[in-house]
Amino acid sequence: LKRAKQTDRIEIYEPEAAMLSDNRFGLETELRGAIEEDRLHLAFQPLIELSSGRVAGFEALARWDNSSGHAVSPTEFIPIAEDSGLIVPLGQWAIGKAAEVLAEWDKQNGAVVDAYFSVNVSAIQLVRDDVAGVVRQALEKHKIGGERLMIELTESAIIGDPDLALSVLSELKALDARVAMDDFGTGYSNLAYLQRLPIDVLKIDRSFVEHMVDDRDKVAIVRTIQSLAEVLGMKTTAEGVETTDQARLLSALGCDFGQGFLFARPMASKPALEYWRQSLVRPIF
Ligand code: C2E
Ligand code: MG
Ligand code: MG
Ligand code: MG
Repeated sequence: LKRAKQTDRIEIYEPEAAMLSDNRFGLETELRGAIEEDRLHLAFQPLIELSSGRVAGFEALARWDNSSGHAVSPTEFIPIAEDSGLIVPLGQWAIGKAAEVLAEWDKQNGAVVDAYFSVNVSAIQLVRDDVAGVVRQALEKHKIGGERLMIELTESAIIGDPDLALSVLSELKALDARVAMDDFGTGYSNLAYLQRLPIDVLKIDRSFVEHMVDDRDKVAIVRTIQSLAEVLGMKTTAEGVETTDQARLLSALGCDFGQGFLFARPMASKPALEYWRQSLVRPIF
């Protein structure tokens, strides 16, 4: 009986699996077109300094509305981009677009906007592309300072080839750009590498912030990451801050910045600039 059941399951799942891979291939083709034709856009989510409530910067997140007008989540299209190699042109586009929008903001503001954009770079791009070269070109093209850009890398990007990571990060530092370690605590960080690398910010993964208010273990983890950052001379940003209680607790633990739906969801360029302007009049937190 058990066997029959298993066979049933296989028969049911096979066509679904085929459909899934068809869909994936379709998405890949569509995504390639969207990148080539500059139809992706960036959404900006504020990074709030918890001690002052001011906006320190924004994370720039890729957004894609496919041909049927459906917003495809990055959690769906980024893995496709990584598997197909499209992540390299996508990542180049994101860095260039971020610099372009910053230059636009300065122009609209009539003065340099005191905020940076933090752009995600995939491990694959780090290996296959000249990330520092891409950043340098974007800065030159749009005539903005390197301190306006931060690059977010995950632990896997660094663990894969620590010597390469060190050389790219050093090049980025030479451009005055900053580096953040994304989703910190979810990968396999090697403390020896962490100490060697010029990382400015550890982004505490959302999974530790979620339920931290009533979970002592999570508080202990956040406290540990915070101490580690302090020892290494790095700042911390908590991801996924959704409640005032979380923000207060994070602030009390010494966490430097917060990002999450409590402050704002990722927004289009125009409302994001307006959000920054408003924050000068009235601190966010
Ligand atoms: P990430 O870099 O860790 O970005 C943070 C994600 O958390 C974003 O999801 C953001 O919308 C979401 N988020 C922010 N605050 C909250 C909150 O309070 N609660 C919850 N539940 N979620 C929150 P998003 O935009 O869907 O992006 C997902 C992931 O896709 C990113 O995670 C990043 O790894 C990747 N990604 C997005 N854009 C790019 C890109 O341009 N290049 C690369 N390589 N990866 C990207
Ligand atoms: Mg990120
Ligand atoms: Mg993250
Ligand atoms: Mg995360």
